[in-house]
Amino acid sequence: MAHISYSKSIEILKANLPQHKGSETLFLGEAVGRILAEDVVAPYDNPYHPTASMDGYGVRYRDLEKGELKIVGENPAGKFQIRKIGEGEAVKTFTGSFMAEGADTLLPFENVKVEGEKLKIVEPVSQGFSVRPVGEDFKKGEVVIKKGTPLREGELGVLASLGKSVVKVVKRPKIAILSTGKELVDIDSPFQPGEIRSSNNYTLTFLAGRLGYQVENLGLLPDDKKEIEKRIKEALEENDIVVTTGGVSVGDYDFVKEITGSYQLLFHGVNIKPGQWVMVAKAGGKFIVSLPGFPYSSFVTFLLYVVPIADRLGGGLESIKEVTAKLGEPFEKKFKKYQFVAVNIHWTPSGLVVDTRGKKQGSSGILTNLIGCKGLMALPEGIYRLERGEEVKLLTFDRVI
Ligand code: AMP
Ligand code: MG
Repeated sequence: MAHISYSKSIEILKANLPQHKGSETLFLGEAVGRILAEDVVAPYDNPYHPTASMDGYGVRYRDLEKGELKIVGENPAGKFQIRKIGEGEAVKTFTGSFMAEGADTLLPFENVKVEGEKLKIVEPVSQGFSVRPVGEDFKKGEVVIKKGTPLREGELGVLASLGKSVVKVVKRPKIAILSTGKELVDIDSPFQPGEIRSSNNYTLTFLAGRLGYQVENLGLLPDDKKEIEKRIKEALEENDIVVTTGGVSVGDYDFVKEITGSYQLLFHGVNIKPGQWVMVAKAGGKFIVSLPGFPYSSFVTFLLYVVPIADRLGGGLESIKEVTAKLGEPFEKKFKKYQFVAVNIHWTPSGLVVDTRGKKQGSSGILTNLIGCKGLMALPEGIYRLERGEEVKLLTFDRVI
């Protein structure tokens, strides 16, 4: 199968993105970072009665011209003792206390002088001063938080103020990560000459976890077709996406490509650097994404092809933001393919600036370029030089929620 262009691969991927996974109900404390699966409608106005927003005296605005009023009692916060005032009367009212009926304005302590029961007005205020009107924060029947909103502290605080201790959220995508290659040894295994310590299954598991997906590291398998086939099949039963690394190019032992290719293949081979041998296939409603083995290739292709599927399953998360940045120093693009370059990002007063200072040039085996890396510069096809100050497309993957 001939390689397709990057834009074509994204077009195919987008046309095949899944539905979200359905919802589950969680306690508020477990819901941070999740996507709201229902509209949250306010069951009452907040505040549900005019409320003081400062400490002072609740008065009738039109009485201010009298210059002196009579204090008839007090309404401490949480207690509504004086329900109503009449002409010339004032009620001591604290921040958060209900305003007595008739009291439409709050005179702060700083604006008055108290002599026994007498309240002398030193400095008047405008009508309605420091009174929170009914429904200031939200009104009964209003959709306060829309379905599809990521739940952060603000949203969860609002849910708490609504008295909601449980909330319906979209289920998290489940991803399994399997690394293949007979040369691979795991983190704590003895190491023989010619062998390579596997990092892909760790890098990708940690990335998936940080992005909020449910992820399982399935470890390593040698290039054994039957074994890999069986493991993928099993993993598909439990997961929404099975991600493999290695075995998709043109080597004698690259069996993964045959296995993944036996499912509903969307594409195999994209004109990108790194990661040209990436494969995406559907298996019923599930996905198999087979990434090339080189550490930098598997990382980039995970971002490009696994993250969009997982984000959609997760209810519309946006793990990758496409923004424009300025180049901090010239860059020579030496490869024809659409290229993704690990960059340093600087937040400057004049916007985002990127550079490749300290990054190594070489094969896609260089994983250390990902140290401190929060974004990839996306450079369309062609060989060219970019000057300092030129605008470039930047894919950032620094999502917290
Ligand atoms: P492959 O795509 O299977 O041809 O693998 C290409 C190269 O990527 C291998 O020779 C290894 O150097 C490297 N590689 C493959 N799998 C891993 C892995 N799990 N962790 C680190 N490096 C790997
Ligand atoms: Mg291999």
